[in-house]
Amino acid sequence: MESPAPRVRPYLYYDLAVSVCPVCLRRIDGKILIEGDAVFLAKRCPEHGSTKVLIADDSDYYRRSREVFLKPPEMPLRYNTPVRWGCPYDCGLCPDHEQHSCLTIVEITDHCNLRCPVCYAESGPDRPGFQPLAEVEAMLDAVVRNEGRPDVVQLSGGEPTLHPRFFEILDAARARPIRHLMVNTNGIRIARDEAFASRLAEYRKGFEVYLQFDSFEGPALHTLRGADLRSIRERALTRLNELEISTTLVATLERGVNDHEIGAIIDFALTQPCVRGVTFQPIQAAGRIEGVDPERNRLTLTEVRRGITSQSSVFKPEDIIPVPCHPDCLAMGYALKTAAGTLPLTGLIDPMVLIEGARNTIVFEQDPGLRDRLFKLFSTSHSPESQAGSLRELLCCLPAIAAPEALGYDNVFRVLIVQFMDAYSLDVRSVKKSCIHIVHPKDHRLIPFDTYNLFYRDGRETRLQELREALDRAGAGFRGLTS
Ligand code: SF4
Ligand code: SF4
Ligand SMILES: [Zn+2]
Repeated sequence: MESPAPRVRPYLYYDLAVSVCPVCLRRIDGKILIEGDAVFLAKRCPEHGSTKVLIADDSDYYRRSREVFLKPPEMPLRYNTPVRWGCPYDCGLCPDHEQHSCLTIVEITDHCNLRCPVCYAESGPDRPGFQPLAEVEAMLDAVVRNEGRPDVVQLSGGEPTLHPRFFEILDAARARPIRHLMVNTNGIRIARDEAFASRLAEYRKGFEVYLQFDSFEGPALHTLRGADLRSIRERALTRLNELEISTTLVATLERGVNDHEIGAIIDFALTQPCVRGVTFQPIQAAGRIEGVDPERNRLTLTEVRRGITSQSSVFKPEDIIPVPCHPDCLAMGYALKTAAGTLPLTGLIDPMVLIEGARNTIVFEQDPGLRDRLFKLFSTSHSPESQAGSLRELLCCLPAIAAPEALGYDNVFRVLIVQFMDAYSLDVRSVKKSCIHIVHPKDHRLIPFDTYNLFYRDGRETRLQELREALDRAGAGFRGLTS
């Protein structure tokens, strides 16, 4: 007699998940499945069928980020919406959210001098409109009402440097208790307009330019940005170095286009005195994503992490760890830039403290003092100045470290991976911890950036309203957990 087929499924059923259908955005149940190193989110819409999307290709890292990097949520001073239809239909911030705004984005225009094939804001030269100064001030006030003393506010768009009242907006931000101000820019104005760049330098304290910087290759720039921006980037960086304006390079990564340049971007960034770090952002399937197949082309955080450690010699795997505010979607690593060279942070820490030998397990979590200081350093809410401060605190609590005596923020170099979720990868458990939020331009709610691009940007709330009404008709308005 034939033996029966084994009744074992070829994966681990790790968790239940709540997600949305990528077609109709209806909230649906899913499962997190682990197959070897790969982690999938599998889900089924009664109308549009099943999807199974890779969300990580390193299941050990994924599990550690969920199980080890937990800290009590830090909350805002107030919430902007009630819990009524359930997550993610109630943004925000509603009382069910589990982390305050470490970084808040304020979009001051939809207008842009580029028309990138990949732009979640669908900005371009054809999109007119600048937020009036009074509106921008009201948006900044909304951030201050929620946060008290906001950690990081990022002016964005569109291209914010094109706003005719740009410097008045910087003054308005300065007049509020914002710890750190960033401007997210494609660099064209900084490269081309010397007077503009010099005036920008007057704001350099507590200020950082978040400079789009995706590739050294013309064809890749054409794919991502619709233009070969190499000389623009070079001129912008020359100016930023001359003017000593703290800068983070921001690389949007697309599989097969520029994901082989991760190491080259880090190595280049380390040679630029004004550059404090690099942020890598795999493409989110939202807005304009011309030529991108969101199921096939997606690049996960763990793949970017591997790119950082395999393409450049600066960081080792243990250097790039989950950010405890939102460990599923953010990972970070530090290095010290000194005259003697570049040293990753874990190179400064006694390996016995950090790593448990062959098992390669970081054991810092067993030392509460070290754990708290590491968690503080590995937070989204840092400016270059405060990073240097937290790093100094951390190093002081470690025995026998050869840290440079005068550790300033120009010694600190940070890599950050920021993965935004989209309709394919949305995991409601995780999005509740999102700490990068955006101010809604009309009613000034603070909304997680992930759900904003899915449900709340421009006219998209019309679809959301239909979903909410369907819940009301079914008498199924989920009432949430905390109200
Ligand atoms: S994502 Fe956060 S703010 Fe939005 S509905 Fe869910 S818990 Fe509320
Ligand atoms: S991605 Fe940035 S630079 Fe490109 S069109 Fe959008 S706003 Fe402009
Ligand atoms: Zn559907």
